[in-house]
Amino acid sequence: MNSPYTNALEQLDRVASIMELNKQTHKRLQLPEKFHVVSIPVVMDDGEERIFIGYRSQYNSILGLYKGGIRFASTVDKDEVKALSFWMTIKTAAVGLPLGGGKGGVIVDPRGMSEGELERLSRGWVKALFDVIGPRQDVPAPDVATNPRIMGWMTDEYSRIAGEASPAAFTGKDVKDGGIVARSTSTARGGFYLLEKIRKDSGKEPGEMRVAIQGFGNAGSFFAKIAYDAGYKIIGVSDSRTSVMSQGGAGFDPYEVQKIKEEQGALQNVDVHDADGAALRVGQPLDVLGMKCDVLVPAAVENQITQDNVENVVAPLVIELANGPTTPEADRILFERGTLVVPDVLANAGGVIVSYYEWYQNINDEQWTEDEANEKLRLQISHAHSSIESIAQEYKSSLRDAAYIFALRALDDALRKG
Ligand code: GLU
Repeated sequence: MNSPYTNALEQLDRVASIMELNKQTHKRLQLPEKFHVVSIPVVMDDGEERIFIGYRSQYNSILGLYKGGIRFASTVDKDEVKALSFWMTIKTAAVGLPLGGGKGGVIVDPRGMSEGELERLSRGWVKALFDVIGPRQDVPAPDVATNPRIMGWMTDEYSRIAGEASPAAFTGKDVKDGGIVARSTSTARGGFYLLEKIRKDSGKEPGEMRVAIQGFGNAGSFFAKIAYDAGYKIIGVSDSRTSVMSQGGAGFDPYEVQKIKEEQGALQNVDVHDADGAALRVGQPLDVLGMKCDVLVPAAVENQITQDNVENVVAPLVIELANGPTTPEADRILFERGTLVVPDVLANAGGVIVSYYEWYQNINDEQWTEDEANEKLRLQISHAHSSIESIAQEYKSSLRDAAYIFALRALDDALRKG
């Protein structure tokens, strides 16, 4: 399978030719402006020092400072980080934020680490990259396996080295560290607002919509709960090892699933029943993608819907909460088949939109309520969706191509102005 970066560049090239993108702009967007590789020494609990490899890709800053999360995973590599930072560049431009794109990562399996080791690793990442990040230069945030606590340690380390409190250096912090309440749920909420907009246009009621979600982390678990609270039927969820699925489609309570997952550590031990009393079916992690449902939400990682399994995907609507979950080949097949795919760069942009609100508040010393932030998010993401829909109609293209066209127009304008 192609690397995510190869896929990302293929998306760029395809859209560049559809819209006849300026050649210079196209070339500039084929490489990151800067790519940093650092070694991070960490003293482990047994007293031994281990060296971890960390990355920060600063893809493009023509529209504003570099913005994007930091991922902790054993699968992190240069190409993945580059792809994710390219997608951040497209994402911020597609939703009209005055921000560029960046992404970071560390090659590590955080699951086996103690709290102290994780803290030393997080602080080590900041020490190693201090000179190239900061509130006016590059503002990281959470991504896969990073969270508000980690952002808190990182902000504290940054402030310590800078010699002054710098809450705007990171977003996705706890509220006590200068974070914004709405941020933890915002990736999911942004995707949910788009689902609501599409549902209302279709004239269906929430109770008629069966939702299957692949991935039960920062984005997927909140999406399940928000949709469930609004009356949607959650009929399948999965984690990296297991899918749990409704047998008759009655739907189950994702709060119960989460409670048991937290207690027992894995979905495979989840003993939850459907609303009609039937036990849930337990299957392989990718089984959830093939469920007969009205909405499929990939909310895990890249390259999940591929040429090999796209035939199983029967949902008419796919909302990509993950970054890069669909390969370009699978994407083409879905488009030809008439499946509506709300692409990652729009569907999961709620995260970075509310990150921008958090950064803005920190810089300007303001405090908005959760409702204010959510309402701003709803308006901003809905507006972006409408603009992208019109481009899709104009070009008879997918929403993904349209989102790229919208973003590339903004990047091209800014690049020409220099
Ligand atoms: N990691 C998230 C993303 O992929 C959020 C980035 C941010 O908030 O800066 O969009």
